[in-house]
Amino acid sequence: MIPVCKPSIGTEELKYVTDCVKSSWIGSMGTYIEEFENEFAKFCGTKYAVSTTSGTTALHLALASLGIGPGDEVILPTFTMAATLYAVIYTGAKPVLIDSEYSTLNIDTGLIESKINQRTKALLPVHIYGHPCDMDILAGIARKYRLYLVEDAAEAHGAEYKNKKAGSFGDIGCFSFYANKIITTGEGGMIVTNNEEIACKARILKNLGFSPEKRFYHVGLGYNYRMTNIEAAIGLAQLQKADRFISTRINNANKYNSILKDIDGIELPTEKAEVKNVYWMYGIRLSKDLPLTKDEMMQKLAQAGIETRSFFIPMHLQPAFKEWVGDEQYPVAEDGAQRGFYLPSSSDLTSEEIEYVCDSIYKIVKGSL
Ligand SMILES: *Cc1c(COP(=O)(O)O)cnc(C)c1O
Repeated sequence: MIPVCKPSIGTEELKYVTDCVKSSWIGSMGTYIEEFENEFAKFCGTKYAVSTTSGTTALHLALASLGIGPGDEVILPTFTMAATLYAVIYTGAKPVLIDSEYSTLNIDTGLIESKINQRTKALLPVHIYGHPCDMDILAGIARKYRLYLVEDAAEAHGAEYKNKKAGSFGDIGCFSFYANKIITTGEGGMIVTNNEEIACKARILKNLGFSPEKRFYHVGLGYNYRMTNIEAAIGLAQLQKADRFISTRINNANKYNSILKDIDGIELPTEKAEVKNVYWMYGIRLSKDLPLTKDEMMQKLAQAGIETRSFFIPMHLQPAFKEWVGDEQYPVAEDGAQRGFYLPSSSDLTSEEIEYVCDSIYKIVKGSL
């Protein structure tokens, strides 16, 4: 089976983890944490980075550090992974969903302003599948209405908009290091910011609200969102190889594009002129005039030993969030979700595997597989 996405872990990770175990620094103190944070801040082009236990907790910590809570509203896309929405719900603020634009399935920036009111506190865009959102427009809206801008960059390590890194535009950028993300620590997350005050506040909040000066004294409600030294050790090794992971993913996407563009009925992912898409996932959509559905295609690919994944199911269609979101229509997100799925996208994917996947798709479309 060609997996849809598997981490690329090697001897470097083993070396650093062994170092943690041998030195017995396996908790949330130890030198790898600080080194990973410093190097990750550098990687993003931001002044500060604060590690957390997951992308979900990074998002929650970001919103909490900005003081977002009950009575506030946060604007986010319906087409995302549930963690983005959960983070808003955890704060007690009201999530306000927005439909996608067609080409990237990122938040449709043209629909945002009509949803802004006195209670709106923040914009929370998501760089879907590694393609950055239109950051100039989002930053402009945030400035005009005095809103915080928090980026969910969980899928976009190293992606760029006008030569600037995803995660470095907003007040805070949030990353995930879950096992299938471009850089992984197994489970883990990070927030990045240029604001010292926010970074300090986040450090206190993620550590149960402990006062940095006085021991066992709590200055405010906090959480235990501390990353372990072992996770940071894996993360540091990953980060040192990140440029290679990213360039392979881009090459793989180009290779997929060059073959699949000749097959009728397959819509390829886009890359806008001003961005660097890092293709966390290489996603395609089947056009409506193909005689087979996405599920049939995915099933046939599975029979050929190729694992794929359906696009996200938009948040407004989730039973879990019924009481949190309204009953508006989000037709673009729904259409994308219905027709889209992603192909094997690991950093370690070989040319031969890509050719095999494309050849299988060709045969399925032609009806010979
Ligand atoms: C992966 C992901 C997260 C958070 O993931 P964790 O599993 O909590 O690390 C958040 N948002 C998006 C868009 C993601 O893809």
